[in-house]
Amino acid sequence: MNSEATPSPAVLILLGPPGAGKGTQARMLEQRFGLVQLSTGDLLRAAVAAGSEAGKAAKAVMEAGGLVSDQIVINILRDRLTEPDCAKGVILDGFPRTTVQAQALDHLLGESRQKINAAISLEVDDAAMVARISGRYTCGKCGEGYHDSFKAPAQDGICDKCGAADMKRRADDNAETVGSRLEAYHAQTAPLIDYYRDKGVLKSVDAMGEITTIASAMAKLADQAMS
Ligand code: AMP
Repeated sequence: MNSEATPSPAVLILLGPPGAGKGTQARMLEQRFGLVQLSTGDLLRAAVAAGSEAGKAAKAVMEAGGLVSDQIVINILRDRLTEPDCAKGVILDGFPRTTVQAQALDHLLGESRQKINAAISLEVDDAAMVARISGRYTCGKCGEGYHDSFKAPAQDGICDKCGAADMKRRADDNAETVGSRLEAYHAQTAPLIDYYRDKGVLKSVDAMGEITTIASAMAKLADQAMS
């Protein structure tokens, strides 16, 4: 036994339908544990904004609420994982979304002798997701999330956290697209719950309550999984 071996960086996966709160919870875990949040949705939106080949191929699929091709997403994630900050450990938010992606992740982690500490499934009611998604927006400067009905800033249009007046709504956060995104989740991503249960790393949280209550439950699970 080598007691001086450096522990490999932690890998946490957040699973859940659109609107379950993966991004919000990932940011809270990031701050609490010093990990890096990797959102394939954010990486793809950046690729679309930059007009890269991957972004051009992804744009229409994202607007329609479908899943971008495995190859594009796997390449984007693989590149991001090689950046030095990922050595702190990562929280995967929105990846993997298909069995092919989950297998590719196993392969990538195997190459660097890393393992998945936990795949945390955020359990929510589909019916509530449409209302959650259709009203949400974020500060374009610091990424703080807001909602028309559940969390308005103290001063309309001004971020409570950083003071910027740069609120943004995602193009795919509308009632029409949410249906397709939920369908894609159930058809292609929900089977990953069994995939990770079979690997012995699945954890679940009730994600219908208060953000801070869910965050405490997630932090407890993450702490156990990383110790
Ligand atoms: P998100 O920000 O995670 O809700 O992702 C927004 C959109 O990006 C999704 O509706 C998909 O079109 C695309 N996307 C994000 N992550 C993936 C992924 N792992 N596989 C395929 N498409 C993805």
